Amino acid sequence: MARLTQRVQRIKPSPTLAIDSKAKQLMAQGVKVINFGAGEPDFDTPEPVKEAAIKALKAGKTKYTPVGGIPELKTAIINKLQRDNGLTYIPEEILVSCGGKHALYNIAQVLFEAGDEVIIPAPFWVSYPDQVLLNDATPVVVPTQEKDGFCLQPEDLERAITPKTKAFILNSPSNPTGGAYSKEALAQLAQVLEKHNLLCISDEIYEKIIYDGFEHVSIAALSPRMRELTLVVNGASKVYSMTGWRMGYSAGPKDIIAAMTKVQGQVTTNINSITQWAAVEALSGPQDFLKDWVAEFKKRRDFIVDRFRAIPGVTCFKPQGAFYVFPNIRAYFGKKANGKTIETSDDLANYLLEQGQVAVVAGSGFGAEGYVRLSYATSMANIEEGMTRIAQTLSQVK
Ligand SMILES: *Cc1c(COP(=O)(O)O)cnc(C)c1O
Repeated sequence: MARLTQRVQRIKPSPTLAIDSKAKQLMAQGVKVINFGAGEPDFDTPEPVKEAAIKALKAGKTKYTPVGGIPELKTAIINKLQRDNGLTYIPEEILVSCGGKHALYNIAQVLFEAGDEVIIPAPFWVSYPDQVLLNDATPVVVPTQEKDGFCLQPEDLERAITPKTKAFILNSPSNPTGGAYSKEALAQLAQVLEKHNLLCISDEIYEKIIYDGFEHVSIAALSPRMRELTLVVNGASKVYSMTGWRMGYSAGPKDIIAAMTKVQGQVTTNINSITQWAAVEALSGPQDFLKDWVAEFKKRRDFIVDRFRAIPGVTCFKPQGAFYVFPNIRAYFGKKANGKTIETSDDLANYLLEQGQVAVVAGSGFGAEGYVRLSYATSMANIEEGMTRIAQTLSQVK
Protein backbone atom coordinates (compact mmCIF):
# COMPACT_ATOMS: atom_id res chain seq x y z
CA MET A 1 0.00 0.00 0.00
CA ALA A 2 1.26 3.48 -0.82
CA ARG A 3 2.61 5.27 2.19
CA LEU A 4 1.47 8.73 1.13
CA THR A 5 -2.11 9.72 0.40
CA GLN A 6 -3.31 10.39 -3.12
CA ARG A 7 -4.29 13.80 -1.81
CA VAL A 8 -0.71 14.84 -1.11
CA GLN A 9 0.59 13.24 -4.29
CA ARG A 10 -1.76 15.45 -6.30
CA ILE A 11 0.04 18.65 -5.34
CA LYS A 12 3.47 20.11 -6.07
CA PRO A 13 5.85 22.27 -4.08
CA SER A 14 5.30 26.01 -4.51
CA PRO A 15 7.25 26.98 -7.68
CA THR A 16 7.88 30.50 -6.43
CA LEU A 17 9.63 29.17 -3.34
CA ALA A 18 11.60 26.73 -5.55
CA ILE A 19 13.22 29.40 -7.78
CA ASP A 20 13.94 31.50 -4.71
CA SER A 21 15.81 28.62 -3.09
CA LYS A 22 17.73 27.85 -6.33
CA ALA A 23 18.79 31.51 -6.53
CA LYS A 24 19.81 31.55 -2.86
CA GLN A 25 21.81 28.35 -3.38
CA LEU A 26 23.77 30.00 -6.21
CA MET A 27 24.29 33.11 -4.08
CA ALA A 28 25.66 30.95 -1.27
CA GLN A 29 28.22 29.63 -3.79
CA GLY A 30 29.34 33.22 -4.36
CA VAL A 31 27.47 33.82 -7.64
CA LYS A 32 26.04 37.34 -7.68
CA VAL A 33 22.45 36.59 -8.63
CA ILE A 34 19.90 39.37 -9.10
CA ASN A 35 16.81 37.85 -7.51
CA PHE A 36 13.45 38.89 -8.94
CA GLY A 37 11.85 35.77 -7.46
CA ALA A 38 10.87 36.94 -3.99
CA GLY A 39 7.20 37.49 -3.26
CA GLU A 40 7.64 39.80 -0.29
CA PRO A 41 8.24 43.54 0.18
CA ASP A 42 11.87 44.55 0.77
CA PHE A 43 10.91 47.18 3.38
CA ASP A 44 11.24 46.58 7.12
CA THR A 45 8.14 46.19 9.29
CA PRO A 46 7.15 49.71 10.54
CA GLU A 47 8.78 50.64 13.87
CA PRO A 48 5.52 51.18 15.85
CA VAL A 49 4.46 47.65 14.93
CA LYS A 50 7.72 46.21 16.27
CA GLU A 51 7.33 48.32 19.41
CA ALA A 52 3.83 46.95 19.96
CA ALA A 53 5.23 43.41 19.73
CA ILE A 54 8.00 44.15 22.23
CA LYS A 55 5.47 45.71 24.59
CA ALA A 56 3.19 42.66 24.32
CA LEU A 57 6.10 40.32 24.95
CA LYS A 58 7.23 42.26 28.02
CA ALA A 59 3.65 42.39 29.31
CA GLY A 60 3.51 38.60 29.20
CA LYS A 61 1.05 38.25 26.33
CA THR A 62 2.55 34.86 25.68
CA LYS A 63 -0.33 32.48 26.33
CA TYR A 64 -3.09 30.87 24.29
CA THR A 65 -5.66 33.33 23.03
CA PRO A 66 -9.17 32.69 21.69
CA VAL A 67 -8.83 30.53 18.55
CA GLY A 68 -10.28 33.17 16.24
CA GLY A 69 -8.15 36.03 17.57
CA ILE A 70 -8.07 38.40 20.56
CA PRO A 71 -11.09 40.74 20.75
CA GLU A 72 -8.82 43.78 20.24
CA LEU A 73 -7.58 42.39 16.91
CA LYS A 74 -11.06 41.44 15.73
CA THR A 75 -12.15 45.00 16.54
CA ALA A 76 -9.17 46.43 14.61
CA ILE A 77 -10.09 44.24 11.61
CA ILE A 78 -13.75 45.22 11.81
CA ASN A 79 -12.77 48.92 11.94
CA LYS A 80 -10.43 48.46 8.98
CA LEU A 81 -13.08 46.74 6.85
CA GLN A 82 -15.51 49.56 7.66
CA ARG A 83 -12.97 52.36 7.07
CA ASP A 84 -11.31 51.05 3.91
CA ASN A 85 -13.98 48.89 2.29
CA GLY A 86 -17.30 50.19 3.59
CA LEU A 87 -18.08 46.72 4.95
CA THR A 88 -19.82 46.09 8.28
CA TYR A 89 -19.02 42.91 10.21
CA ILE A 90 -19.44 41.56 13.74
CA PRO A 91 -16.74 39.55 15.58
CA GLU A 92 -18.48 36.22 14.78
CA GLU A 93 -17.92 36.97 11.10
CA ILE A 94 -14.12 37.31 11.46
CA LEU A 95 -11.38 34.66 11.81
CA VAL A 96 -7.68 35.45 12.28
CA SER A 97 -5.38 32.82 10.75
CA CYS A 98 -1.63 32.21 10.24
CA GLY A 99 -1.39 34.35 7.10
CA GLY A 100 -3.70 34.85 4.16
CA LYS A 101 -2.60 31.43 2.90
CA HIS A 102 -3.91 29.72 6.03
CA ALA A 103 -7.15 31.73 5.84
CA LEU A 104 -7.63 30.46 2.28
CA TYR A 105 -6.86 26.91 3.33
CA ASN A 106 -9.44 27.04 6.13
CA ILE A 107 -11.99 28.20 3.59
CA ALA A 108 -11.09 25.35 1.23
CA GLN A 109 -11.41 22.85 4.11
CA VAL A 110 -14.96 23.81 5.00
CA LEU A 111 -16.31 24.48 1.49
CA PHE A 112 -14.74 21.95 -0.88
CA GLU A 113 -15.01 18.20 -1.27
CA ALA A 114 -14.93 15.52 -3.97
CA GLY A 115 -17.17 16.41 -6.89
CA ASP A 116 -16.96 20.17 -6.36
CA GLU A 117 -15.56 22.49 -9.01
CA VAL A 118 -13.82 25.75 -8.16
CA ILE A 119 -13.33 28.40 -10.84
CA ILE A 120 -9.86 29.99 -10.85
CA PRO A 121 -8.89 32.61 -13.43
CA ALA A 122 -5.36 32.20 -14.85
CA PRO A 123 -2.73 33.52 -14.38
CA PHE A 124 -3.37 32.52 -10.76
CA TRP A 125 -1.52 32.61 -7.47
CA VAL A 126 0.18 29.22 -7.18
CA SER A 127 -1.56 27.99 -4.03
CA TYR A 128 -5.18 28.25 -5.22
CA PRO A 129 -5.33 25.10 -7.38
CA ASP A 130 -3.28 23.05 -4.95
CA GLN A 131 -5.43 24.01 -1.96
CA VAL A 132 -8.49 22.96 -3.97
CA LEU A 133 -6.81 19.64 -4.88
CA LEU A 134 -5.80 19.02 -1.25
CA ASN A 135 -9.50 19.06 -0.44
CA ASP A 136 -10.42 16.58 -3.18
CA ALA A 137 -12.19 19.16 -5.35
CA THR A 138 -11.40 20.10 -8.96
CA PRO A 139 -9.86 23.42 -10.00
CA VAL A 140 -11.46 24.76 -13.19
CA VAL A 141 -8.87 27.11 -14.66
CA VAL A 142 -10.20 29.83 -16.96
CA PRO A 143 -7.59 31.81 -18.93
CA THR A 144 -7.67 35.60 -19.07
CA GLN A 145 -6.12 37.79 -21.78
CA GLU A 146 -3.25 40.26 -21.59
CA LYS A 147 -5.35 42.68 -23.71
CA ASP A 148 -8.03 42.64 -20.98
CA GLY A 149 -5.43 43.50 -18.33
CA PHE A 150 -5.63 39.84 -17.23
CA CYS A 151 -9.16 40.43 -15.92
CA LEU A 152 -11.71 37.64 -16.30
CA GLN A 153 -14.57 38.56 -18.62
CA PRO A 154 -18.08 37.92 -17.29
CA GLU A 155 -19.03 35.75 -20.29
CA ASP A 156 -16.01 33.53 -19.63
CA LEU A 157 -17.04 33.17 -15.99
CA GLU A 158 -20.58 32.30 -17.03
CA ARG A 159 -19.37 29.69 -19.52
CA ALA A 160 -17.23 27.95 -16.87
CA ILE A 161 -20.13 27.47 -14.44
CA THR A 162 -21.66 23.98 -14.16
CA PRO A 163 -24.06 22.44 -11.61
CA LYS A 164 -20.93 21.30 -9.73
CA THR A 165 -19.44 24.79 -9.34
CA LYS A 166 -19.01 25.63 -5.68
CA ALA A 167 -17.03 28.86 -5.69
CA PHE A 168 -15.03 31.38 -7.64
CA ILE A 169 -11.62 32.65 -6.53
CA LEU A 170 -10.92 36.32 -7.24
CA ASN A 171 -7.56 38.01 -6.65
CA SER A 172 -7.37 41.76 -7.18
CA PRO A 173 -4.80 43.27 -7.42
CA SER A 174 -3.31 40.05 -8.75
CA ASN A 175 -0.22 38.06 -8.05
CA PRO A 176 1.38 37.35 -10.60
CA THR A 177 0.11 39.92 -13.14
CA GLY A 178 -0.49 43.08 -11.10
CA GLY A 179 -3.81 43.36 -12.95
CA ALA A 180 -6.71 44.73 -10.91
CA TYR A 181 -10.48 44.89 -11.39
CA SER A 182 -12.29 48.23 -11.57
CA LYS A 183 -15.60 48.63 -9.76
CA GLU A 184 -17.42 48.26 -13.09
CA ALA A 185 -15.56 45.04 -13.97
CA LEU A 186 -16.37 43.64 -10.52
CA ALA A 187 -20.02 44.57 -10.89
CA GLN A 188 -20.22 42.53 -14.10
CA LEU A 189 -18.72 39.49 -12.37
CA ALA A 190 -20.98 40.01 -9.36
CA GLN A 191 -24.03 39.93 -11.60
CA VAL A 192 -23.05 36.44 -12.81
CA LEU A 193 -22.22 35.24 -9.29
CA GLU A 194 -25.53 36.49 -7.90
CA LYS A 195 -27.48 34.91 -10.75
CA HIS A 196 -25.92 31.50 -10.01
CA ASN A 197 -25.80 31.95 -6.24
CA LEU A 198 -22.06 31.26 -6.28
CA LEU A 199 -19.66 31.87 -3.41
CA CYS A 200 -16.79 34.26 -4.09
CA ILE A 201 -13.44 34.02 -2.31
CA SER A 202 -11.92 37.48 -2.67
CA ASP A 203 -8.19 37.63 -1.95
CA GLU A 204 -7.46 41.34 -1.38
CA ILE A 205 -4.00 41.02 0.14
CA TYR A 206 -2.52 43.70 -2.23
CA GLU A 207 -5.42 46.17 -1.89
CA LYS A 208 -3.27 49.13 -0.82
CA ILE A 209 -0.41 48.61 -3.25
CA ILE A 210 -2.04 50.37 -6.21
CA TYR A 211 -0.93 53.02 -8.70
CA ASP A 212 -2.02 55.95 -10.84
CA GLY A 213 -5.13 56.72 -8.81
CA PHE A 214 -6.58 53.20 -9.15
CA GLU A 215 -9.31 52.59 -6.57
CA HIS A 216 -9.59 49.23 -4.89
CA VAL A 217 -13.16 48.09 -4.26
CA SER A 218 -14.12 44.89 -2.46
CA ILE A 219 -16.61 42.81 -4.44
CA ALA A 220 -18.37 42.16 -1.10
CA ALA A 221 -19.24 45.86 -0.89
CA LEU A 222 -21.16 45.94 -4.19
CA SER A 223 -24.49 44.70 -2.80
CA PRO A 224 -25.96 43.10 0.33
CA ARG A 225 -26.28 39.90 -1.71
CA MET A 226 -22.56 39.91 -2.60
CA ARG A 227 -21.68 40.49 1.03
CA GLU A 228 -23.52 37.25 1.85
CA LEU A 229 -21.80 35.37 -0.98
CA THR A 230 -18.25 36.60 -0.34
CA LEU A 231 -15.39 35.58 1.89
CA VAL A 232 -12.97 38.48 2.04
CA VAL A 233 -9.37 37.39 2.64
CA ASN A 234 -6.71 39.86 3.64
CA GLY A 235 -3.66 40.08 5.91
CA ALA A 236 -0.64 41.99 7.10
CA SER A 237 2.08 40.31 5.00
CA LYS A 238 2.19 42.51 1.93
CA VAL A 239 0.78 45.90 2.95
CA TYR A 240 2.64 46.10 6.29
CA SER A 241 5.70 44.14 5.19
CA MET A 242 5.01 41.47 7.83
CA THR A 243 5.47 38.23 5.88
CA GLY A 244 7.33 36.52 8.70
CA TRP A 245 4.80 37.42 11.39
CA ARG A 246 2.00 35.29 9.92
CA MET A 247 -1.26 37.19 10.24
CA GLY A 248 -4.13 36.91 7.81
CA TYR A 249 -7.88 36.96 8.23
CA SER A 250 -11.20 36.11 6.66
CA ALA A 251 -14.50 37.96 6.90
CA GLY A 252 -17.72 36.37 5.77
CA PRO A 253 -20.99 34.62 6.60
CA LYS A 254 -21.20 33.53 10.24
CA ASP A 255 -21.85 29.84 9.53
CA ILE A 256 -18.78 29.53 7.30
CA ILE A 257 -16.55 31.45 9.72
CA ALA A 258 -17.80 29.26 12.60
CA ALA A 259 -16.92 26.11 10.65
CA MET A 260 -13.47 27.49 9.82
CA THR A 261 -12.89 28.41 13.47
CA LYS A 262 -13.80 24.85 14.44
CA VAL A 263 -11.23 23.48 11.97
CA GLN A 264 -8.54 25.92 13.11
CA GLY A 265 -9.28 24.99 16.73
CA GLN A 266 -8.34 21.40 15.91
CA VAL A 267 -5.28 22.22 13.79
CA THR A 268 -3.30 25.30 14.85
CA THR A 269 -5.38 26.97 17.59
CA ASN A 270 -4.75 30.75 17.69
CA ILE A 271 -2.01 32.49 15.70
CA ASN A 272 1.06 33.74 17.57
CA SER A 273 -0.13 35.89 20.48
CA ILE A 274 2.57 38.56 20.07
CA THR A 275 1.85 38.89 16.35
CA GLN A 276 -1.78 39.60 17.20
CA TRP A 277 -0.82 42.64 19.30
CA ALA A 278 1.55 43.84 16.57
CA ALA A 279 -1.26 43.44 14.03
CA VAL A 280 -3.59 45.60 16.17
CA GLU A 281 -1.01 48.39 15.85
CA ALA A 282 -0.48 47.76 12.11
CA LEU A 283 -4.19 48.01 11.34
CA SER A 284 -5.06 50.82 13.76
CA GLY A 285 -1.88 52.92 13.91
CA PRO A 286 -0.65 55.58 11.48
CA GLN A 287 -0.74 54.42 7.86
CA ASP A 288 1.37 57.23 6.36
CA PHE A 289 4.49 55.08 5.69
CA LEU A 290 2.48 53.38 2.96
CA LYS A 291 2.49 56.46 0.73
CA ASP A 292 6.29 56.36 0.55
CA TRP A 293 6.37 52.61 -0.10
CA VAL A 294 3.84 52.83 -2.90
CA ALA A 295 5.69 55.81 -4.45
CA GLU A 296 8.89 53.76 -4.41
CA PHE A 297 7.16 50.70 -5.91
CA LYS A 298 5.65 52.90 -8.63
CA LYS A 299 9.08 54.28 -9.60
CA ARG A 300 10.40 50.74 -9.94
CA ARG A 301 7.33 49.54 -11.86
CA ASP A 302 7.66 52.37 -14.39
CA PHE A 303 11.36 51.69 -14.90
CA ILE A 304 11.02 47.94 -15.31
CA VAL A 305 8.02 48.16 -17.67
CA ASP A 306 9.86 50.69 -19.88
CA ARG A 307 12.95 48.51 -20.00
CA PHE A 308 10.94 45.40 -20.93
CA ARG A 309 9.04 47.27 -23.63
CA ALA A 310 12.39 48.25 -25.18
CA ILE A 311 13.43 44.58 -25.56
CA PRO A 312 12.63 43.23 -29.05
CA GLY A 313 9.74 40.73 -29.04
CA VAL A 314 8.67 41.36 -25.45
CA THR A 315 5.30 42.88 -24.59
CA CYS A 316 4.72 44.05 -21.04
CA PHE A 317 1.39 44.90 -19.44
CA LYS A 318 1.60 47.86 -17.06
CA PRO A 319 0.19 46.65 -13.74
CA GLN A 320 -2.25 48.72 -11.65
CA GLY A 321 -1.22 47.07 -8.40
CA ALA A 322 0.92 44.62 -6.37
CA PHE A 323 4.71 44.51 -6.96
CA TYR A 324 5.07 42.17 -9.93
CA VAL A 325 5.45 42.53 -13.69
CA PHE A 326 4.43 39.73 -16.01
CA PRO A 327 6.10 40.25 -19.40
CA ASN A 328 5.13 38.13 -22.40
CA ILE A 329 8.26 36.36 -23.67
CA ARG A 330 6.58 33.96 -26.11
CA ALA A 331 8.51 35.49 -29.05
CA TYR A 332 11.62 33.69 -27.75
CA PHE A 333 10.06 30.23 -28.03
CA GLY A 334 11.55 28.10 -30.78
CA LYS A 335 14.77 30.12 -30.74
CA LYS A 336 18.19 28.89 -29.69
CA ALA A 337 20.43 29.82 -26.79
CA ASN A 338 23.69 28.01 -25.98
CA GLY A 339 22.76 25.41 -28.62
CA LYS A 340 19.49 24.57 -26.82
CA THR A 341 16.04 25.46 -28.09
CA ILE A 342 13.86 27.46 -25.71
CA GLU A 343 10.47 25.80 -25.68
CA THR A 344 8.86 26.85 -22.41
CA SER A 345 8.91 29.67 -19.87
CA ASP A 346 10.81 27.28 -17.58
CA ASP A 347 13.53 26.94 -20.26
CA LEU A 348 13.75 30.71 -20.50
CA ALA A 349 13.84 31.18 -16.70
CA ASN A 350 16.61 28.57 -16.43
CA TYR A 351 18.55 30.22 -19.24
CA LEU A 352 18.27 33.65 -17.59
CA LEU A 353 19.46 32.20 -14.28
CA GLU A 354 22.35 30.19 -15.68
CA GLN A 355 23.53 32.59 -18.38
CA GLY A 356 22.55 35.96 -16.94
CA GLN A 357 22.49 35.19 -13.20
CA VAL A 358 18.99 36.66 -12.99
CA ALA A 359 16.23 34.80 -11.14
CA VAL A 360 12.69 35.15 -12.55
CA VAL A 361 9.74 32.78 -12.09
CA ALA A 362 8.38 30.89 -15.11
CA GLY A 363 4.76 31.64 -16.02
CA SER A 364 3.94 27.93 -16.18
CA GLY A 365 3.57 27.73 -12.39
CA PHE A 366 0.90 30.43 -12.55
CA GLY A 367 -1.04 28.64 -15.30
CA ALA A 368 0.29 31.02 -17.97
CA GLU A 369 2.86 29.58 -20.36
CA GLY A 370 4.60 32.29 -22.42
CA TYR A 371 5.25 34.65 -19.52
CA VAL A 372 7.68 35.16 -16.64
CA ARG A 373 7.06 36.91 -13.33
CA LEU A 374 9.44 39.41 -11.81
CA SER A 375 8.98 40.90 -8.37
CA TYR A 376 10.18 44.49 -8.07
CA ALA A 377 10.31 44.29 -4.30
CA THR A 378 14.07 44.81 -4.55
CA SER A 379 16.32 47.87 -4.71
CA MET A 380 16.43 50.19 -7.73
CA ALA A 381 20.16 49.37 -8.08
CA ASN A 382 19.32 45.65 -8.33
CA ILE A 383 16.54 46.35 -10.81
CA GLU A 384 18.84 48.43 -13.05
CA GLU A 385 21.54 45.78 -13.03
CA GLY A 386 19.01 42.96 -13.47
CA MET A 387 17.27 44.59 -16.43
CA THR A 388 20.64 45.24 -18.13
CA ARG A 389 21.51 41.58 -17.70
CA ILE A 390 18.11 40.42 -19.00
CA ALA A 391 18.35 42.60 -22.13
CA GLN A 392 21.92 41.43 -22.72
CA THR A 393 21.14 37.75 -22.13
CA LEU A 394 18.04 37.79 -24.33
CA SER A 395 19.97 39.48 -27.14
CA GLN A 396 22.03 36.27 -27.43
CA VAL A 397 18.92 34.20 -28.21
CA LYS A 398 18.72 33.69 -31.97
C1 LIG B 1 1.36 36.61 -0.41
C2 LIG B 1 -0.01 36.25 -0.83
C3 LIG B 1 -0.98 35.75 0.06
C4 LIG B 1 -0.82 35.47 1.52
O1 LIG B 1 0.35 35.53 2.08
P1 LIG B 1 0.46 35.28 3.66
O2 LIG B 1 1.88 35.59 3.94
O3 LIG B 1 0.08 33.87 3.92
O4 LIG B 1 -0.49 36.23 4.32
C5 LIG B 1 -2.24 35.49 -0.41
N1 LIG B 1 -2.55 35.69 -1.68
C6 LIG B 1 -1.67 36.16 -2.57
C7 LIG B 1 -2.12 36.38 -3.96
C8 LIG B 1 -0.37 36.45 -2.17
O5 LIG B 1 0.51 36.90 -3.08
